[in-house]
Amino acid sequence: MRKKIVAGNWKMNKNLAETETLLSELKSKLGETSADIIVAPTFVNLYNASQALKDTTIDVAAQNMHQAENGAFTGEIAAGMLKNIGINTVILGHSERRAYFGETDELLAGKVDTAIKHSMRIIFCFGEELEDRKSGNHFAVVESQLKNGLFHITAENWKNVVLAYEPVWAIGTGETASPEQAQEMHAFIRTTIAKAFNNDIADQVSILYGGSVKPNNAEEIFAKEDVDGGLIGGASLDAESFSAIANAI
Ligand code: PEP
Repeated sequence: MRKKIVAGNWKMNKNLAETETLLSELKSKLGETSADIIVAPTFVNLYNASQALKDTTIDVAAQNMHQAENGAFTGEIAAGMLKNIGINTVILGHSERRAYFGETDELLAGKVDTAIKHSMRIIFCFGEELEDRKSGNHFAVVESQLKNGLFHITAENWKNVVLAYEPVWAIGTGETASPEQAQEMHAFIRTTIAKAFNNDIADQVSILYGGSVKPNNAEEIFAKEDVDGGLIGGASLDAESFSAIANAI
């Protein structure tokens, strides 16, 4: 059985007080979901969030990290620093990191290696842009993002990887991939992994869908065979909406 996961990417939102309020609302509103729940507040609130959630099953993730162990990288955060405050999960390759901060597949491959070295769980994000889909290149783009950023890992390392397919045209736009489009791509991703590694790995890895998932569309997207949950942006900032999405699994 693959793990079902619902993760909230809070991006650059919520100060400390707002983070604590949202977490306490989530603790009371999240019902008996069968999914693993992950929240990703900003760096400065990670420690407080992990303390606030330490008696719960909700996991806390960082939204990014640097690939180096330490050193003269002003403004950056190292894997060891995250581990040191109890953060064991990191989101890598989010489309906003790729688009606004120049993160390439090659750079991400290095971040993946560092996360693996520190035994961190990686939520690896990727997805095509609108032009890629319009030109029918979306499968090739996704395949190359996976191959160049991730497929150098060993078979053993896959146990620490969660994939998040996030078509860029659906992120924060209110436009969602249809459940059929999501299923088609998730099945393609699984086949690609099976070819490059093996069927067991392809069957075991959780593949989340991300892109304007809301309480009113989560259930039909999550119902698709190869969709194992979601990475949620905007709707994760509201406890009611995020809980409804988590409970739609
Ligand atoms: C995201 O940023 O990962 C995301 C899916 O955002 P939204 O849900 O707002 O589209």
